[in-house]
Amino acid sequence: MRVFNFNAGPAALPIEVLEQVASEMLDWNGTGMSIMENSHRAKQVVAMAAETEELVKSLLNLGPEWSVLFCQGGASLQFAMVPLNFAPDGQLADFIDTGLWSTKAYQEAKQCGTQVHLAASSAQDDFTYIPTDYNFSRSPKYVYLTSNNTVRGTQWRNFPAQAPAPLIADLSSDFLSRRVDLSNFVLAFAGAQKNVGPAGLTVVLIKKDFAQTGKKGLPHMLDYRTYLDNGSMYNTPPVFAIYVASLVFKWIKAEGGLEVIEKFNQLKGKTLYDAIDGSSGFYRGTARADSRSLMNVTFRLLSEDLEKKFLEEAKTQGLTGLGGHRSVGGVRASLYNAVTQTAVESLTGFMAEFMKKNG
Ligand SMILES: *Cc1c(COP(=O)(O)O)cnc(C)c1O
Repeated sequence: MRVFNFNAGPAALPIEVLEQVASEMLDWNGTGMSIMENSHRAKQVVAMAAETEELVKSLLNLGPEWSVLFCQGGASLQFAMVPLNFAPDGQLADFIDTGLWSTKAYQEAKQCGTQVHLAASSAQDDFTYIPTDYNFSRSPKYVYLTSNNTVRGTQWRNFPAQAPAPLIADLSSDFLSRRVDLSNFVLAFAGAQKNVGPAGLTVVLIKKDFAQTGKKGLPHMLDYRTYLDNGSMYNTPPVFAIYVASLVFKWIKAEGGLEVIEKFNQLKGKTLYDAIDGSSGFYRGTARADSRSLMNVTFRLLSEDLEKKFLEEAKTQGLTGLGGHRSVGGVRASLYNAVTQTAVESLTGFMAEFMKKNG
């Protein structure tokens, strides 16, 4: 039996995609073997990867100045690759710290020899909001932010308009969940396992001319140009993950593209936040209202014991993956693209029942 999966990542994938993967498992595209058994140099595989890049570009309306790269090492390797390429050897980069993943990113940049300046942080308030006042340095190489904070349940609405340098973003947990204006960005990346497909793939969007400004002489696998110059096939790429991602991108397109997906996500978020806000304090959202995420909805109950009971009973109703991140506890419902309105309504139905019995 399939459950309603509210995992934060790896996370739910569209049923249509999983069914197609299953149906093509033994014979992909008439090759008489699965995609995993094909050579990454096979014409059809190269074409599939190229088509996948184009799908990303068309979904995001990216112009020819952009490239889409397929990397490995998760978002976490990007925490190192970005500074190693673009602010090496003590050069300065500005960071906006909105929680665990941006904290890790600036700490890793420090480790890579970048001079790190925190232009804003919501650490003092438990990362419950997205800062809107920034203290940028005069001339950083780039300004780094995390568009959606998977752990704390906050999400950027408007990116800084007046930054002193191009923006770079970790889009891992809201990639392709809404329309996004990337005109002030030079690079953005997303680990696949939140909203795109299997772990093992990181999608990197990079402006071609910016890529050329990277430090020379890095190990090949750490240099963005290696991916750019070789169609992301300098070495064996994660072919299966790219293939599943390609099906997810086609699914988004078939649903009507990002405009439609964004509307679905807004409705899902509203449904759940309304249930929280309408519970007279039985459920309490942890993020400030103006910073609430549509992807990861975090809330608390009156006690940790009650939260434990909530999570256990939810599971018996087929509602899984609702535990908060281990660093903060509480409840977190991740409402990625593949999570349906039906799943969200099952959750809010359960929440109402639970409140009636325990309120
Ligand atoms: C999950 C997550 C990461 C870490 O991703 P890995 O692929 O495990 O390295 C980084 N940033 C954000 C925003 C995330 O949600």
